[in-house]
Amino acid sequence: MDYYPGSIKTLIRSLARLPGIGQKTAERLAMHILQQSDEDALQLARSIVDLKKRLRLCSRCFTLSDDVLCRICNDPSRESGLICVVEQPADMASIEKSGAFKGRYHILGGVLSPMDGIGPDDIKIAELVTRVEKEGIREIILATGTNVEGEDLKYVDQVTLKRAMESRHGV
Ligand SMILES: [Zn+2]
Repeated sequence: MDYYPGSIKTLIRSLARLPGIGQKTAERLAMHILQQSDEDALQLARSIVDLKKRLRLCSRCFTLSDDVLCRICNDPSRESGLICVVEQPADMASIEKSGAFKGRYHILGGVLSPMDGIGPDDIKIAELVTRVEKEGIREIILATGTNVEGEDLKYVDQVTLKRAMESRHGV
């Protein structure tokens, strides 16, 4: 790494900290960014800054959002009496990709784990109870990991997910 100027070394170090990016890939990406036009490189930098500045949690369902309410909470065509409870925004994205669910979501932001000291107050359970009372929720689908291995929704294929959603049984 010593043969690289400091500015490239800094970029390589930052990229190498990303998941799935080793030293070699980080170097290749840094070289690619170096060869990009100023405009493209700035666009990449700006999108990262924007992400950190603008992104917040939806005030209703706690998924990632650019606005106070996320796109789904703001969508009047979504069934309002139906909530799908997931652990993370990525789980919601998996279900959305399947296209099988037309209700709204509630993102817990984690999972109860007494072993790790994560209790009901650390995830959005009280907020879920409030929503059920206020929004007249008539059906809640729990799409959270139910076993210790916690089969991750991200890795369940879309067809299986769609089938499970439609017949409302576990995946
Ligand atoms: Zn929302």
